[in-house]
Amino acid sequence: MNWIANADLKPYNTFGVAVSAQWMVECNSVADIRESIQDERWKTLPRLILGGGSNVLFTQDFDGVVLLNRLKGIELEREDDEFVWVKSSAGVVWHSFVLHCIQNQWAGVENLSLIPGSVGACPIQNIGAYGVEIKDVFFSLDAMHVESGEIRSFDHQACAFGYRDSVFKNEEKGKWIILSVTFQLRKQPLWNTQYGDIQKELERLGYSSPTLVGISQSVINIRQSKLPDPKVLGNAGSFFKNPVIEESLYARVKEEYPNIPSYPAGTGKVKVPAGWLIEQAGWKGFKAETCGVNEKQALVLVNFGKATGSEVYALSTQIVEDIAKRFHITLEREVNIL
Ligand SMILES: Cc1cc2nc3c(=O)[nH]c(=O)nc-3n(C[C@H](O)[C@H](O)[C@H](O)COP(=O)(O)OP(=O)(O)OC[C@H]3O[C@@H](n4cnc5c(N)ncnc54)[C@H](O)[C@@H]3O)c2cc1C
Repeated sequence: MNWIANADLKPYNTFGVAVSAQWMVECNSVADIRESIQDERWKTLPRLILGGGSNVLFTQDFDGVVLLNRLKGIELEREDDEFVWVKSSAGVVWHSFVLHCIQNQWAGVENLSLIPGSVGACPIQNIGAYGVEIKDVFFSLDAMHVESGEIRSFDHQACAFGYRDSVFKNEEKGKWIILSVTFQLRKQPLWNTQYGDIQKELERLGYSSPTLVGISQSVINIRQSKLPDPKVLGNAGSFFKNPVIEESLYARVKEEYPNIPSYPAGTGKVKVPAGWLIEQAGWKGFKAETCGVNEKQALVLVNFGKATGSEVYALSTQIVEDIAKRFHITLEREVNIL
């Protein structure tokens, strides 16, 4: 295990922002993590756990310790006639976990193909796409307390999942290092092809009925056609959450914007696509000097190469203020700002 001083974090965040960490330590085993949290530097300095760095925006150098979680391994824990319980270490790349499940005919995560990042981070914001969220397949996770080293198991209820939300973004924020996640997957798939263009893409690919590979490939194709590749254009996916607003506010906005889309979001509430609001306000394709709003997907802020995190953050603030002024709707950032 190697502690690196003044570590360059540019390769470790998909926004491609050039910042450094006072210390970075890469952990390949639970023993590495245990040893790291006993180190004086971890005990006394600010701490950050990083997986794939695909949901963070660094607005400054990190004057503390970055712990890279690189725990690897996937195992089938148990099965019955209907389900398999599969445990993946936190450092496994999410998409390789998805491909592993598809190869084994374990169903439930195929709609979540190609989401960047690590397995360990997926419960934190309850990742979701194409009609499926982690909460739909989550069984439990094991995590180590950042100070005491206690290992605790969190079941579904303890995670308090919400839309792009969990207990790890609230009461338990920054307190736990997720070591592994156990998923409950189906032997007989429950197809979810209604969302987005999956059905159309399946047909285009020549599938007369859905298969796990077919859905995964469809999702991959759709995502690649809509979202910028962070290797080419730095970004962290959707920068904002889709706001959930009161029906009364929705009705008022609809008077002025009759085409405003909405989805039910519980009693008296509706969810409005943030991308639609941003596009209506004219931001889609907006280019500042170093950063901008993606031309295909208004929800994605991009780094043209040399942006600082503060510049991206300032752009996001301009957008938040403009949307508030026009629609009286407050956009909330999905990306973790550091
Ligand atoms: C192009 C693109 C598309 C995307 N599409 C989607 C999408 O469709 N749906 C979606 O939900 N998200 C999407 N995202 C966001 C991102 O992929 C997810 O949030 C992902 O789960 C982040 O994983 P990560 O390992 O990169 O997390 P990081 O960015 O490394 O970390 C994110 C947060 O989790 C914490 N964390 C990470 N690992 C651990 C751990 N082991 N223990 C404790 N805390 C930890 C970090 O401290 C940080 O607060 C997209 C991102 C990009 C770049």
